[in-house]
Amino acid sequence: MAGREVVIRKYPFHSFAPGNYWCCCVYCGEHFIGAKRSLQCEPCAEKQDHTQKALDEALRIQRETGEASVLTVELKMNGRPIAAATVKNISDLAPISDYEVEAVSLPSKYSGKGFRHAFTVNRHERLQTAWALIAKVADRLAQVEKIEEAKGDAA
Ligand SMILES: [Zn+2]
Repeated sequence: MAGREVVIRKYPFHSFAPGNYWCCCVYCGEHFIGAKRSLQCEPCAEKQDHTQKALDEALRIQRETGEASVLTVELKMNGRPIAAATVKNISDLAPISDYEVEAVSLPSKYSGKGFRHAFTVNRHERLQTAWALIAKVADRLAQVEKIEEAKGDAA
């Protein structure tokens, strides 16, 4: 026992849990065995720890400064999650700010493909309603997904 490190992970872990279902990871597209509602494989869940750390950091900033720096967008269809995005301010909350966006869409029923996108929204006038920022993020994602869907059709 001495010197042996035992890591006990609590499941579900970032949308992964062990199970007997044949699943498709929305991040890397690989198949894996997991619980019925698992969205991603365990290695991708581990990578997503970074996203969690970014959110934790944002919450810490928010507590200390009283200002929010990460916007989380979750899309649900009849209560079932279909897509999510985090939009992180990387300009120290300057009036004209840049944002880092990480978004994931679960496989659509049309293409069966899920998507993951990371990009930045630059020079956004911060002191507006959150919807103004969401509009830019949504517009960009709609364009990228349209291109990806078209690629899928051509393949
Ligand atoms: Zn994966």
